Amino acid sequence: MYKIPRKLTIKGSEWKIRLKKKIKDKGILCDGLTHKTKKLIEIDATLSPKHKKLTLIHELLHALIEETCVDISEDNEEVIVENITRFLYDTFQIRWK
Ligand SMILES: [Zn+2]
Repeated sequence: MYKIPRKLTIKGSEWKIRLKKKIKDKGILCDGLTHKTKKLIEIDATLSPKHKKLTLIHELLHALIEETCVDISEDNEEVIVENITRFLYDTFQIRWK
């Protein structure tokens, strides 16, 4: 059975991953959220396994961008993250070590 990891190390920093219901960003419900200062990723607990995996990859890419310290506008970051997520998901079988 597929399980979401509880934590991952990104460029030497530990990020926590939590499943949660009703995640809101600026008052709007969303599938996942990356809290960059807390190094915390939240994933909607009610999503299907596939959707959880896609959301986790998406949020991990936000975390990776944060750890890389590159300066990208919020809109551009969203486009980059979503495109890489789809590409990775469609191209590779992704498993957690
Ligand atoms: Zn995003």
